[in-house]
Amino acid sequence: MDEIPHDWLFPRCAAACHHGGAGTTAASLRSGLPTIIVPFFGDQYFWGRIVSEAGAGPTPVPIGSLTAETLAEAIRFALGPKVRERARDLSRKVKTQQGDEETVASFYRRLPLEAMRCSLDANRVARRACETCALAFCLICDAVVHEDAARAQHRRHPLGHVEWDVSGSPSLLERLERSLADPLGGSEETAPDREPSAKSSPGVVLRDEDPAARLYVRSTPVVVDLATRAKILERFEAARHC
Ligand SMILES: [Zn+2]
Ligand SMILES: [Zn+2]
Repeated sequence: MDEIPHDWLFPRCAAACHHGGAGTTAASLRSGLPTIIVPFFGDQYFWGRIVSEAGAGPTPVPIGSLTAETLAEAIRFALGPKVRERARDLSRKVKTQQGDEETVASFYRRLPLEAMRCSLDANRVARRACETCALAFCLICDAVVHEDAARAQHRRHPLGHVEWDVSGSPSLLERLERSLADPLGGSEETAPDREPSAKSSPGVVLRDEDPAARLYVRSTPVVVDLATRAKILERFEAARHC
């Protein structure tokens, strides 16, 4: 057998015995199985200890001391009523934890949010850096400021923030902006320029010769109401003079 899904296999088992990798340990605990860990490397020893201290399995049996006797002993222990009950308890707890939401929240907490803000609207993510203005703009502010004929020729570049390994997506940007705060108003009608797997470090300007930059430049028009436009230009004048 090459491989078999944990979520198919474990519900058919009375107990699990494995190496104690983080994923496998989570899977066997999630299935409510008493878990015997036979660690041989890295954090497997740690997970073995955690499981045993939680009462959901025996003291880990390192691979070097695994014999028919130690294994039989571990299995006997694992099948005891107390351990089985403890494993079932843990499974209930694990299932009610919202691990994915927590992970996403932690991801956003680690972003360099301060450095990612539009110079004119702290609630929006800066997407363009203007060399001439020496400011960073969200798409709306960039469009409003630079539609003025006197500024239309400014040299602007796409702005990257974090070294993404995934392609930027509209939903990713929306979530970013939600994590900054509520937007100033005005809709950012972007059929968002396809962001590449942008290789950019925090606050890094992608020069035109950077292949990642070329994929950003197709800017789409933004729709901004008059009040928002006026507010942006007012903030721009203020920012320019500081
Ligand atoms: Zn400019
Ligand atoms: Zn802005």
